[in-house]
Amino acid sequence: MKLEAMQALLQASLPAKRYEHSVAVYETALQLAHAHGLPEKKIAVAALLHDCGREVPTKESVAKAQELGIKLKKVEIAQPILLHAILGVPYAKNKYGVKDPEILDAIRYHTTGNKDMSATAMVVFLADMIEPARDFPGVEELRELCYQDLKQAMLLAYSNTIKYLLKQGLLIHPDCIKGYNQLQLEQIEQQAK
Ligand code: FE
Ligand code: FE
Repeated sequence: MKLEAMQALLQASLPAKRYEHSVAVYETALQLAHAHGLPEKKIAVAALLHDCGREVPTKESVAKAQELGIKLKKVEIAQPILLHAILGVPYAKNKYGVKDPEILDAIRYHTTGNKDMSATAMVVFLADMIEPARDFPGVEELRELCYQDLKQAMLLAYSNTIKYLLKQGLLIHPDCIKGYNQLQLEQIEQQAK
């Protein structure tokens, strides 16, 4: 499917606000791709479609995932907002014709992060956090870092997210911890050299 067709289908499938956000993430992701000299094609598709699973209302997402035979973790059932990323994979595949595992992984891990993320996945994760409508304490610092160093920006994003979750008494998804630990370990090892 061509990008324009995906865009039209996405617009028809998502609430207007969510579609606007998707386009903003797409534009931000392309700017990041450009800044880091990354190929744009996969990033464009992954960023545009990152929230395609949102066409399933959050209230219905657990039932939908079960209907699709997806095995859920307790932390995902307890925080069903996380499910739109998981549901995004079958929607991207079946509705938008995406086959590339790198794109599907970028969609899958755009809310939690994970270890071994591709540059595409990091760009989508970060673009989602820093698109122009995002406004939270520290967003400017994160924005700047995103253009300098993707891994450092991921580390800051993980640490912001984990602090926020702790403060709110929410659960921390194991994939988020895996992503944080991997990058932090890498940094500790580099500093020891
Ligand atoms: Fe999302
Ligand atoms: Fe999003």
